[in-house]
Amino acid sequence: MTQKTLTILGATGSIGRSALEVVRMHADDWRVGTLAGGSRVAPLVEAALETNPDRVVIADEGKYQELRRQLDAVGLGHVEAAAGADAVADAAAEEADAVLQSIVGAAGVEPTFRAVEAGRRLLLANKESVVCGGGLLMGRARATGALILPVDSEHNALFQCLAGADEAQKAKARLILTASGGPFRGRKDLTGITPEEAVRHPNWSMGRKISVDSATLMNKGLEVIEASWLFGFPGDRIDVVVHPESIVHSMVEFADGCVLAQMGTPSMKNPIAYAMAWPERIEAGVERLNLAKIGRLTFEAPDTETFPLLKLAYEALAGEGGETIVLNAANEIAVEAFLAKRIAFTTIFSTVAGALESIPAPKPASVDDILALDREVRRRVRAALGMKEGA
Ligand code: NAD
Ligand code: MG
Repeated sequence: MTQKTLTILGATGSIGRSALEVVRMHADDWRVGTLAGGSRVAPLVEAALETNPDRVVIADEGKYQELRRQLDAVGLGHVEAAAGADAVADAAAEEADAVLQSIVGAAGVEPTFRAVEAGRRLLLANKESVVCGGGLLMGRARATGALILPVDSEHNALFQCLAGADEAQKAKARLILTASGGPFRGRKDLTGITPEEAVRHPNWSMGRKISVDSATLMNKGLEVIEASWLFGFPGDRIDVVVHPESIVHSMVEFADGCVLAQMGTPSMKNPIAYAMAWPERIEAGVERLNLAKIGRLTFEAPDTETFPLLKLAYEALAGEGGETIVLNAANEIAVEAFLAKRIAFTTIFSTVAGALESIPAPKPASVDDILALDREVRRRVRAALGMKEGA
């Protein structure tokens, strides 16, 4: 049997590293064709040493020489090297049996579109590109026949629960996304929170940006928007329920009131392996669920008074223009400022709300429109927070 090739974008991140573990378990069936990372050369070269890919790409243009030198130094002189955002986007489009898109943030917009336009099988973790790409992205996917398999655990769960449903059933169904509630669940006073506290997630070990998003509940807001586009459900048929154990990854309620849930030990290796193997299933290297040992699963309503970004995300989704692009870009800058200790945790809320109120959000007609609005929001939010361009 011939091996399938996988392109991994965001190979040095939390999802990227989990994917490398899954690939390692299935080395007879899968090999890595291309590895792409953001700006850190050493972990990228380390991943290349393990996987012996055809190509390694780094987004930071200034790191090309360093990447080439380190690849040569470890005996990977035969591996092609490239640098720059365009090279990452090209990597998304190039021939491969599947492309895992696990870049963080709106930097993933262009690579996602390029993979979809090339008709690739896209294993999609980068939720920000769905939040920004919206109907345009889904339309392109229908046109090219690109298959989008969600890797975000909730969406992977929904995909599994919807597998047997036809369009008529989906039209009357409700999506129920579960949320862990993050590290500050139950708190009313969010003053004085430090970045270290915010990134300490109770159930998942993830990148810093998504960890802060989980702490503010913006992650769930982005996921409501992501679910709306991926599955074609309006916001008023998408609910969120807090489930601190993170065992039920999400649910679908059908017209008759029956609810299907997908459960498992919380590990991103599950959705990654599912998306790689679909429609088959393969070993994911995840501890089996032992419900008797867990004992009890609990659920509660989200506290949208204390964590207002979830409500704002629903409002942005209901907008007619590019509101979700504004929401996402403002959040990315605010999270960056919070992680750099420039603003308070709660200033993330006011920054995003302020951007949605003050920045015009025309409906994008192209990827260029999406990127232009994203840039404009970043510029304005940086200015409002007194940050330098690119600081
Ligand atoms: P991370 O910060 O750990 O990794 C991000 C990766 O993207 C790194 O490899 C980094 O080098 C790369 N990158 C950053 N900027 C880039 C650029 N401009 N061009 C190319 N590559 C760039 O993040 P993560 O936690 O792995 O999350 C990645 C994506 O997956 C996010 O969109 C996140 O919301 C989503 N996601 C993550 C998890 C999780 O458990 N970590 C779960 C669900 C969804
Ligand atoms: Mg998720």
